[in-house]
Amino acid sequence: MRASDPAYDVCIVGSGAGGGMAAYVLAHAGAKVALLEAGPAWYATRDSKMLVPAYASPRRGKSTKTKPFGEFDGCIGGWEIAGEPYTRAPGTTFDWWRARMLGGRTNHWGRISLRFGPDDFKGKTRDGLGDDWPIGYDDVAPYYDRVDDLIGLFGSVEGLRNHPDGHFQPPPKPRCYELMIKQACDALGVTCIPSRLSILTRPIHGRAACHYCGQCGRGCGVAANFSSPDVLIAPALRTGNLTLITNAMAREVTLGANGLADSVLYIDKRTHAERRVRARVIVLAASACESARILLNSKSAAFPQGLANSSGTVGKYLTDTTGAGVGGYVPKMVDHVPHNEDGAGGAHIYSPWWLDNAKLDFPRGYHIEMGGGLDAPGYGFMDRIQDLPPGGGYGRQLKEDYRRWYGASVYFSGRGEMIPNADSYCELDPATVDQYGIPVLRFHWKWSDHELNQVKHMQETFRALIAQMGGTVTEPMPSKEKGYGIAAGGQIIHELGCVRMGDDPATSVLNSHSQAHDCKNLFVADGGPFVSQADKNPTWTILALSWRTADYITEQRKQGAL
Ligand SMILES: Cc1cc2nc3c(=O)[nH]c(=O)nc-3n(C[C@H](O)[C@H](O)[C@H](O)COP(=O)(O)OP(=O)(O)OC[C@H]3O[C@@H](n4cnc5c(N)ncnc54)[C@H](O)[C@@H]3O)c2cc1C
Ligand code: SF4
Repeated sequence: MRASDPAYDVCIVGSGAGGGMAAYVLAHAGAKVALLEAGPAWYATRDSKMLVPAYASPRRGKSTKTKPFGEFDGCIGGWEIAGEPYTRAPGTTFDWWRARMLGGRTNHWGRISLRFGPDDFKGKTRDGLGDDWPIGYDDVAPYYDRVDDLIGLFGSVEGLRNHPDGHFQPPPKPRCYELMIKQACDALGVTCIPSRLSILTRPIHGRAACHYCGQCGRGCGVAANFSSPDVLIAPALRTGNLTLITNAMAREVTLGANGLADSVLYIDKRTHAERRVRARVIVLAASACESARILLNSKSAAFPQGLANSSGTVGKYLTDTTGAGVGGYVPKMVDHVPHNEDGAGGAHIYSPWWLDNAKLDFPRGYHIEMGGGLDAPGYGFMDRIQDLPPGGGYGRQLKEDYRRWYGASVYFSGRGEMIPNADSYCELDPATVDQYGIPVLRFHWKWSDHELNQVKHMQETFRALIAQMGGTVTEPMPSKEKGYGIAAGGQIIHELGCVRMGDDPATSVLNSHSQAHDCKNLFVADGGPFVSQADKNPTWTILALSWRTADYITEQRKQGAL
C-alpha cells in the first residue's frame, strides 16, 4: 500500500474466534474494516468433508502434515508448521498448536461453550492466588447473552453456582453409554448434566439444525455448529464494510509521529513481498501467543521492548488448561445390542466442577469431558484390540472381536485451571527467525504443585468412575515423577494470557476494555487479555470479550476519541 492509499477505520489481525467476532460487530456497526489472515480462505459450508466416508481416501483419512488430526479434519495447521518454527528454553516441554486458515481453530474446536462464572474473575480475592480481573461476571454477562443469541448453543438450565446458565436450545438426549456414566456419577456424587455445545438443535438465522452425523471436527457443511467463517465472517462480508486479505502474515504494528499505531506490516505469503495496511484502530486477534509475538516484534524508539510493553509483561502470565485422561473397558457394554447412537459431534453430557476446595489440597477446579460410544470409526480405531480377550487374531475372528468390543470403552478427560506462574511465559528467541524473516517465540514452562495435585485428583476420580461402572482401567496410575499423567503445557490448546488486562499499567498490558495502556488505538481481542484460566474452556469468553471490545471501539469512535 502506498502512503496515499486510504486508511481503513479498523485493521484486525487474525480471523478465529476473537478476530471473527470483532470483524462481525465492527462491520455491522458501519466501520470500514480490513481483516488480515495468515492462512487461505476456508468455509465449512463449501470445503468441509463432513460426509466423506473414510474408504473414499487412499489414506483412509489418516493424518497429513497440515492435517495432524486426520485428513478430513477441519483445521489446517498443527503442532509444527513448515517454515514457521518456535523454540523451547532448555528443560521446557511446551507444544504450540497453530491454525493457518480463515477462522483459525474454530473450524475444528470441540464447541464446548461454557461461560466463566463470577468466582472465575475474582480468583485472588477467593484464595489469594494469581490476580483478579479488572472486570467481573456482570460486565461480561450481557455479551455472553448476545453471543448465545447470535451463535446458538444447547444446554440445560441448572442454576449451579459459578456455572452460569445461558440462552440454551434444547440439548440432545444422552446416549446409552452416557446414561451409564451418569449412573456412576450419581452414585459417587459427581455432578453430571447435559453438555453445553455451540451446535444448533433448532434452526436460527438461516442456519440449519444439526442432523446428528457426529462429524463436527471436519467442519459442518450446513453451518449447524459454530465456526467463524460461516457464522461471523460471511455475514460481515455481506455488509460491504469488510475487506478480507488472506495469506497475509502480520509482522508488526507501526507507530505514527503522534505516538498512535498507524499500520500493520505484513508479508504476502504468495510472493513474500512486504505490504502495509493503514488504519485508525488496530485490533490484534492472532491468538494469545501470536499477538504477543507481534507486539514484541513491533519495536520503535518509543517502545524498544516492543509495542505496549512498557510494563515488560507482554508474553508473561502464559497459562494452559490442565489435562489428564483415563480410559477403560466396561464388560457390561461388550456384545451390546447394535443401536443407533448418532448425535452431535462430542459428548451429550459433562461434569462441571462440583467440589469445595476447602477440603482439597489444590486450588480451583476442573470439569470432566466424557468419551465412548459407537460413532463412525476413524483411521486406526481400536488399535490395541490385541490387549483385550481373546487377544487378537486374523480374519473372521478379528472382525467379530471388533464388533463385540466396539462401543465398550469409555474415556474421561479432566480440564482444569492452572494458576499463572513466573516460570511460564514466552519471549522472542534472539537467534531464530521464520521463513519470512520474523523473529519467533521461545517458550518457558513449569507446572506447580497446584496443577499436579489437581491432576492426581482427576486420575483418582476417573478410576473410581470406571470401577463404579464395573469396568477395567487400561493404564496404571502414573507416578508423581510422571506428573500424574498431566498433559504437556500447550497440549490442551487453551493457551491464554501474555497480553493481560489490569487496572495497573505497571503490571498489565491492557485496560479493562482490552485497550493498550500505552497506545489508545491498539486493542487485543483473542485469549491474550485473560488474567486467569478457569475450569471452563475459554472460547465463549473470547467471543464475549471481543464483542465487548468492539462495542467500546464503536462508542469511542462516535465520541471522536479514536
Ligand atoms: C482440537 C481443538 C479443540 C478445541 N476445543 C475447544 C472447546 O471445545 N471449547 C473451547 O472453548 N475451546 C476449544 N478449543 C480452543 C479454541 O479453538 C480457541 O480458544 C479459539 O479458537 C481461540 O480463538 P483465537 O481467535 O484466539 O485464535 P484462533 O482461533 O487460533 O485464530 C487465530 C487466527 O489468527 C491467524 N493468525 C495467526 N498469526 C497470524 C499473523 N501473524 N498474521 C495474520 N493472521 C495470523 C491464524 O491463522 C488464525 O486464523 C479447541 C482447540 C482445538 C485445536
Ligand atoms: S453433528 Fe451436527 S453440527 Fe456436527 S457436523 Fe454433523 S450436522 Fe453439523
